[in-house]
Amino acid sequence: MSIFVTRSSMPSYEDYIKEIKSIFENHHLTNMGPVYKKLQHSLMEYLDVPQLSMFVNGHMALEIVIQAMGLRDSGGEVITTPFTFVSTTHAITRNGLKPVFCDIKPDDYTIDPEKIEALITDKTVAIVPVHVYGSICDVEAIEAIAKKRNLKVIYDAAHAFGVKYKDRGIGCYGDAAMFSFHATKVFNTIEGGAVTFSDESLRKSLHSLKNFGIKTEEYVDEIGGNAKMDEFRAAMGVCNLKNIDNCIAARGAAVHRYNERLSSVKGIQLMTVQPDVTPNYAYYAVLFEPSKFGETRDDVYERLKTNDIFARKYFYPAINEMDCYKNSNNEETPIAAEISRKVLTLPMYADLTIEEVDRICDVILTHKNS
Ligand SMILES: *Cc1c(COP(=O)(O)O)cnc(C)c1O
Repeated sequence: MSIFVTRSSMPSYEDYIKEIKSIFENHHLTNMGPVYKKLQHSLMEYLDVPQLSMFVNGHMALEIVIQAMGLRDSGGEVITTPFTFVSTTHAITRNGLKPVFCDIKPDDYTIDPEKIEALITDKTVAIVPVHVYGSICDVEAIEAIAKKRNLKVIYDAAHAFGVKYKDRGIGCYGDAAMFSFHATKVFNTIEGGAVTFSDESLRKSLHSLKNFGIKTEEYVDEIGGNAKMDEFRAAMGVCNLKNIDNCIAARGAAVHRYNERLSSVKGIQLMTVQPDVTPNYAYYAVLFEPSKFGETRDDVYERLKTNDIFARKYFYPAINEMDCYKNSNNEETPIAAEISRKVLTLPMYADLTIEEVDRICDVILTHKNS
């Protein structure tokens, strides 16, 4: 049986049918209907955030919150990480802003706050860091820099659903945070996403920008798009949210087994456990040090594939090595470059069994045992 890198969590068929029954009765299919509102309130509670606006996907949520902050087409620069999914950088660029890549920390792969200040110019308008793999950025150091230099901070929290730091929802940090509810994420609404924020004035703007900039029937004052979450996706979210704690616990059990099997192996670096963080076990990323492990990341990737196990080189290449960004006159980011060449994201999802984790680890360690 093949093992893929991820497998979407789903409710039972009966559960979902029960949840969409009301939609067939009221014909309210989209435009922030009752199921949208139900999910919105449950999510605000679960994520422990004061405000939350839902979107058709995480990418549009990020694109629109950047616009809602008044940064679109300002010609400004945005400091961000090259070690992310390309959506982060595209959201910046598609707003007419210039991404400036800052290197990451070698231990948790998040943006290195000590390298941010050197990249700030009089054109810098914001910092867009990523809580990569669900590991959180140094939110305190980033906030201090942003305050001092008067910059907005928008977190890409696509990986960080349900993560808490010092007992606060991770969406409470920064001016706003974007969560992705894509099928492959810890929590899904098939496709979907949200922005969390505290500034009351952002609420109206987000609401209108995801609906063509329409304020009232006869009044349109902003150039918005269409990025609303519909009722059927919201219903999927309502069902999946009921089971989220079990899903995260099951991921945790798989992570625990991976750690047992891999933590003492020479040449393998595992993710760090961050202090004061309640984790969500979103991804299981492993770094292979060829000189010590005896094989490269690509060797391991290929051997897994031959054994019907599909890991992912996530994230490779680094964003500033991609064709559409490599000419963008960026600072060098050697740590991100190195990690992107050594990292492999192993299968991780709620249904992954301990036996499957063992099978994966057996294949990874084959050459060590032979
Ligand atoms: C998934 C993801 C996104 C985009 O979210 P979608 O819901 O797929 O649009 C953005 N950033 C990161 C880091 C992601 O992993």
